[in-house]
Amino acid sequence: MPKDTLTYSALKTFMSCRWKYHLQMNEGLVPLAQDDNLYLGSVWHSVLEIWYGGGEYNSKLERVASLIDQSFPNRLSDPRQKRDWHLCHAMFSGYTQHYPEEEFNVLGLEVEFTVPIVNPATGRSSRTFELRGKVDGLVQLQRTGELFILEHKSAAQITGDYIERLPADFQINLYAIALSRFLKRKIFGVIYSITRKASLKQSEGETEEQFEIRKAELIRKSKTGKTSAKRKMPETDEAYRERLIEKYRDPEMYYREVLYLSAEDAARTSSDLWNITKLILTARRENSWIPNRDHCFRFGNQPCAYWPLCRSNNNPNVRDNLYEHKAPHSELSAVLEDTDNENPVF
Ligand code: SF4
Repeated sequence: MPKDTLTYSALKTFMSCRWKYHLQMNEGLVPLAQDDNLYLGSVWHSVLEIWYGGGEYNSKLERVASLIDQSFPNRLSDPRQKRDWHLCHAMFSGYTQHYPEEEFNVLGLEVEFTVPIVNPATGRSSRTFELRGKVDGLVQLQRTGELFILEHKSAAQITGDYIERLPADFQINLYAIALSRFLKRKIFGVIYSITRKASLKQSEGETEEQFEIRKAELIRKSKTGKTSAKRKMPETDEAYRERLIEKYRDPEMYYREVLYLSAEDAARTSSDLWNITKLILTARRENSWIPNRDHCFRFGNQPCAYWPLCRSNNNPNVRDNLYEHKAPHSELSAVLEDTDNENPVF
């Protein structure tokens, strides 16, 4: 009998809000509105997939440019798309100059895995669940021959806190032990490659009316009763692009951390994974999906994507107008090689 799929994303959702997990995994309900930050992150992943994939240098540049163009088709009329289009081009140009050569060889990209979930106390596999996932890349260090997962992230900030938390990142540890099991090869850890998202905005300039107000204020404050102020004109696309490219010349826009997975990390992660599956089974058995209202506004002012539905007490009109049904885990392939397959990436 086929097992139910669990992914890192499903586990994380369950731990943050069980009601959200229920909506996503049991009801297959997803918001119609697109999260622009997630979308930009997924475009960035696709860009790097081309960059680290095979092919001739100029052909890769062309394919990346074409991918970015196609990803933001309304950039001439939609300011958000226009900004993200500029941002992606500048990020890519800066990234390739910052990392002209790598210290690893790429063995596989977008590598998917399916592994049993094992009870660490007994060594038995879960009869209900299996773990599936996908890593951005599998690489081999040229110096030592060690295998590492390559994970790309784009982040608004690369703060000390962010870096400090990486070794405890459940996703990284989970993927490392899962891929080790899947490939039957030791994965030594994860190379975490983070690129910052520049917050520069294209200046809109000022309207004639805004200029007149500012000018009047300057004159009011001036001892001579005059001002040489000129109206601020909108920043041209070329000037904005130059500013972004200059920004991405700054080495601080990039950060890499090589994290080795310790035996203790692996043991703790295996144990956490098993315990979460037990909690999910209990919630299923009791059909109890407790909402975690502390999580509704977890990310600053931005509400959870299910907030309109929860706030409306599951109103059917809200449900129909703002959400659609989609099979869970659609980001993974429909069919995967089975877990006994020997080293499918090599
Ligand atoms: S809005 Fe709050 S309660 Fe509703 S699913 Fe999201 S986090 Fe859970």
